[in-house]
Amino acid sequence: MSLLVDYCPKCGTIFQKNLRNLCVPCSTKMDSDLNLCLDRLWMRPNITSKELSEVTGVSLNELYTFIKSGRLSSSYRNLTYPCESCGSETRSGRLCFSCHHVFHEAGKGQPSSKTPERQVVVKTSTKVLYTSRRQR
Ligand SMILES: [Zn+2]
Ligand SMILES: [Zn+2]
Repeated sequence: MSLLVDYCPKCGTIFQKNLRNLCVPCSTKMDSDLNLCLDRLWMRPNITSKELSEVTGVSLNELYTFIKSGRLSSSYRNLTYPCESCGSETRSGRLCFSCHHVFHEAGKGQPSSKTPERQVVVKTSTKVLYTSRRQR
């Protein structure tokens, strides 16, 4: 069994791969940051992402990661993060409601089921190969 190593996505040092995909120092830091946030939220459940970042010293980007990954519950209604498309505040998914709608509409023109189609093609080509070999 080989040792799996990777670059830590947060600090860039090489570390032994683990379930969290973070090096130990970053992982520990993340836990303490998260606990800090949870403490604050317990006292002020209506705090916004920006205010929470200011009082805890945890960067907004890190807060966004917590919210997106579900570590900070979406029941805190003022914890929002920017939509990946237009930057307006959102609380679920990668896009705000209006962008999600726009993307959904735009995607309607394309064939929706790509994977099953490809499977059919593969099946047909092996069948063709098989029959042609038999004929020779
Ligand atoms: Zn790290
Ligand atoms: Zn948007």
